[in-house]
Order: sequence, then structure tokens, then C-alpha cells
Amino acid sequence: MNIGCSIQSPAFRENHHIYLAQNNSLDLFLEKLKNDGVTSIEIRKLDRVIDEETYHAYNQSIQKIWDMGLTITIHGDLTGDLEGSSFKEIYPSMTYILENYAKYQDQLVITLHALSEKNQPNHASVEELKQNTIDRLSDWTKVIEAEKLPIYLALENNRSKEKAIDPGNSCKVVVEMVEAVNNPHVGICWDMGHLYSNLIEGKELQMELNDLPSKKFLEKVYHTHIHALNDAGKTHFPLTQDFDLPIEDYVSALYGVDYQGVLNLELSFDRYEQEMPVNENILISVEKLKRLSKYKVMEE
Ligand SMILES: [Zn+2]
Repeated sequence: MNIGCSIQSPAFRENHHIYLAQNNSLDLFLEKLKNDGVTSIEIRKLDRVIDEETYHAYNQSIQKIWDMGLTITIHGDLTGDLEGSSFKEIYPSMTYILENYAKYQDQLVITLHALSEKNQPNHASVEELKQNTIDRLSDWTKVIEAEKLPIYLALENNRSKEKAIDPGNSCKVVVEMVEAVNNPHVGICWDMGHLYSNLIEGKELQMELNDLPSKKFLEKVYHTHIHALNDAGKTHFPLTQDFDLPIEDYVSALYGVDYQGVLNLELSFDRYEQEMPVNENILISVEKLKRLSKYKVMEE
């Protein structure tokens, strides 16, 4: 099983101590992750259109990741108006990745949130947003198929937020959208922390606290976002004793459907770096995921 870790954008652009998990450079951070046992880095996140300077900074960082023998996944973005007949036209910021990935990895997983209305809704209904998400994923899929690209889009289940109109905020509707597109290039990014947060708050459609997602959901999981909750219910904390996530149950549910993707930690260092040792807590989280995958190997 591959273990992954998301790195947030500022770390690709500058020596940002917080987002580099208190390491002094991206090189040192990547080396640390590699030594911990991480094999995959999620770029969190890559907007479709970025300025020239940012583009070069990202590309340099991505090349660094590849040169270290690690692979990438992308936390992408479905919003925006760009259309085209090639994936580069739809997603210009991925041009360098598309030109070079084949030397380093077989496929590209792109995690996407459903189209939603965040704070100032344009009065689009959740049904409209759901249909727009399905349509856009279908359009992208056509381009991916026409170009024969090994791109796999993973629609993420989101945390249900007070003011947002978001068809992605339940596992149930995420499955419905993925099933409506009905294409092998479109699956799910199971955000375990988002699900658990919704369950605790009683906001997940047709699921109770200790429930696992449906088999239909599990079978379409292409990627994962793994993070625990603090006492106040805040998400994106590490998998240490102090924080909560039924990770054993969730990972064994994935093994039950023979999941082959990455177990990807999606931590927000900025939320806790003043209170605890970030580097150490990444290691504890990675080790926990490694133990769960070893257990699986022993079972077989
Ligand atoms: Zn996530």
C-alpha cells in the first residue's frame, strides 16, 4: 500500500516554515517524508490557471519530487470556464506535468470538489450544482478518453458547511454523481475526516455515527484524504492519540474492496504547529498507516 502526504501550495513557492512542517526547505521536507515511508505527494492544490512565476515554482517542486523517486497526485479544481479539446487547454497549469509524468508514474489521480456555492450563493440549487458537476466531469472524461490519458478524477466527499450549497457534502450524493458519469476515469476521493465530521454532527445523509460508506461508494474509491478531528471537531489533524478518526475501520473497509490506491494524509500544519511537534506527528501518522497495511499483508 502506498502512503501519501499532501503538501500545501505555499511550500512549493517559498521556504514557508509552517507549510514545510518546520523543515528548512522543500528538499529537507521531502527527504524526511521519504525516510518516514511516504511514497506519494499530493499537490494541495493546483488551480487550473496560475501565473507564470507560480507555474515555474510548482514545476520545479514537482520535478524535485519525481527526482527523489516519489510520485504525485493532484488536488485539482473543477471551477472556471476554460474549455478545449485537449486536457492542457482545460487545465493549463498541468502542462508540465502532462509532458513529463510518464517518465515517473503510470497514472495521474486528480482529486476534485463538486461545484458548489460557498458564501454568497447565486441562488443555484443543489440539484443544478449536482447536474453541472456531472456535466463537467463528463466533458473532461471525453477529452481524457480522446487523448488516451491515464488520468483518474476522484470526486471528494466534502464537509457539510453551514453556508455552502454543496452537492458533494454527503457520500450518498457523491456516489450518485459518479454513477451518473459512469466512466472508469471518474471515481471518488474518500475524505475520511470529512465523513467523520459530518457523522459526528449528524449531517451525513442516511448514515449514522458508526456506519461505513456503502459498498457502491467504497468500490469507486480512487484516492483518500486521511485526517483526524480535535476535541472541538476541527478537521485535518494528525493520527495521534489526541485526535479522533476510526481509521482502523475505514482502512479495513477499503481492504474489503481490494483498494489499490494511496492512503494519503491530508494535514493542515498551520492549525496546530504552535502546539505540537509537526514532524514527529507526521511520522506517528505514517507509522499508523503502515501498521494497518502490514496487518493486511499478514492476513493474506
Ligand atoms: Zn480533503
